[in-house]
Amino acid sequence: MKTYDAVVVGARCGGSVVAGKLAREGWNVLLVDKARFPSDTVSTHAMFANTLARFDALGILERLYDRHQIPRLFPRWRILEHELSGSYTAVGGYTYGISVRRIALDSVLVDWAIDGGVKTSFGERVQGLIGSGADGDPLRGVILEGGEEIHAPWVIGADGRASTVASLLNLEKTKPMTGEMAYLFAYWRGLPQEEVSSIDVNYSQQALMHNPGEDGIDLLSVGGPPEITRGSTADREKAYAARLHAFPESFDAGHLDKAERISDLIVVPETMMRGFFRRATGPGWVLVGDAGHFKHPGTAQGISDAVEQAIYVADAMAGDDPELEGFHEWRQERSSGHYEWSFIYGSWPVLGMAEPFLSGLAADSEARQDWLDTFTRIKGPSDVTTPERLGKWLSG
Ligand SMILES: Cc1cc2nc3c(=O)[nH]c(=O)nc-3n(C[C@H](O)[C@H](O)[C@H](O)COP(=O)(O)OP(=O)(O)OC[C@H]3O[C@@H](n4cnc5c(N)ncnc54)[C@H](O)[C@@H]3O)c2cc1C
Repeated sequence: MKTYDAVVVGARCGGSVVAGKLAREGWNVLLVDKARFPSDTVSTHAMFANTLARFDALGILERLYDRHQIPRLFPRWRILEHELSGSYTAVGGYTYGISVRRIALDSVLVDWAIDGGVKTSFGERVQGLIGSGADGDPLRGVILEGGEEIHAPWVIGADGRASTVASLLNLEKTKPMTGEMAYLFAYWRGLPQEEVSSIDVNYSQQALMHNPGEDGIDLLSVGGPPEITRGSTADREKAYAARLHAFPESFDAGHLDKAERISDLIVVPETMMRGFFRRATGPGWVLVGDAGHFKHPGTAQGISDAVEQAIYVADAMAGDDPELEGFHEWRQERSSGHYEWSFIYGSWPVLGMAEPFLSGLAADSEARQDWLDTFTRIKGPSDVTTPERLGKWLSG
């Protein structure tokens, strides 16, 4: 029988960070993932200044830069022809974001955890829990699919939005939300390199996102109604190509002729992005990252939230809240304002209301900065949409 201080299920942004931090506090931690790394997962992998600052403080950022060439990315949005661009108010000295494919980012996170003393079990899924996780019967470990029992007084579920740990605990999903947009992604090599990540949305339910990633690999993703992800491969390729050519003011599709597409189309139906909350802690267990709460990826907060929660949980467990009594309320407070906000970005602008709002926002430099700073969480949505501003913008 193997016994640890904690077993962490899921080894990406949430799992590797919580495991690596606890191990550095002297805990004996097992990190389990059904995947073997390097391993990719669907994401636009945009991260902002706040995540850079956290990775810097943990010693993860220098490892990323040691392995990869990573461009700085300043945001440029163009929604219904209104341009919103700039830089983030500095967090830890960073005023920009980065975009690193998960196959690269998650490997660095896993190696950082291992170098901190974390033991690993990769390539085998968790399929059972020891204990019910209810009052009087705390979780005491997990059972791997091969039948091996791993014993630990803490089970940390960082196993993503389809969390096995949460399902086995029979946790209810609350506050469900669904967006309207579906996406098609593909990776390219050989596009002109600029320090800009751009998002365009037009009046015809078309969106184009350009994220220059590590080592000269760019993600070009398009958004549209759910139909763009259906039909035949040829239908999806047509929908993808149409959107790549739909924004000549900001993306010169002529560049594609000189570039090479290095992936198949990655299909992201709107059903992949359904939001929810779950209870975050209970006897012997805690959920970190998407396992406990999923928001629409339109605001690209998932990585930073998973990392922030992992840091909170490890600090609390090894510090002054070893039973995690404050974690659930803290997570609820941190996520509540951003949850509905994220689904606005996963839906098409409501014509009639969106234009005066965007026009007011684009013309007001202070408000625009507040809006940019919602991505790093220096500001919340209600700091942008104050009654005074809304009154002014919406009355024309
Ligand atoms: C289309 C899309 C685009 C996104 N774009 C962005 C973005 O631009 N920026 C951003 O910040 N966020 C983005 N996100 C969100 C982001 O990907 C997640 O929030 C983030 O990955 C959550 O990290 P996590 O560690 O909680 O879980 P995950 O990254 O989902 O990792 C969970 C891990 O658990 C493992 N696992 C699951 N079940 C088991 C089991 N039974 N046994 C063992 N292992 C198991 C999996 O193999 C996986 O490795 C996007 C999400 C989607 C769907």
